[in-house]
Amino acid sequence: MIMKELIDRKEVNDMTLATEKDKAFALAELSRRKIENTPKVIDNRSLYAGSDMYFYCDYCKALTDQLPEDYIPDPDTPKKICDECQSLKDLGWME
Ligand SMILES: [Zn+2]
Repeated sequence: MIMKELIDRKEVNDMTLATEKDKAFALAELSRRKIENTPKVIDNRSLYAGSDMYFYCDYCKALTDQLPEDYIPDPDTPKKICDECQSLKDLGWME
């Protein structure tokens, strides 16, 4: 029984460690994506009238949406966070 508890506790520790490592890695990847993506961001104001509009992830500047100028906004449009950052946010890692 004691052995079992020790094993259980070790598993928890390993999991915590894995999570911390994953978080550090995920956040490092996020910075890398942001540095890589930022120069590609298109300023919608620089486009001629009638052009599609481009929207980027709030966190990493990845392209999240490309919509016609007369798009109808709703809470999910344009998309503000890319899938990758959304999963980090869901984990509570985007503080
Ligand atoms: Zn993102």
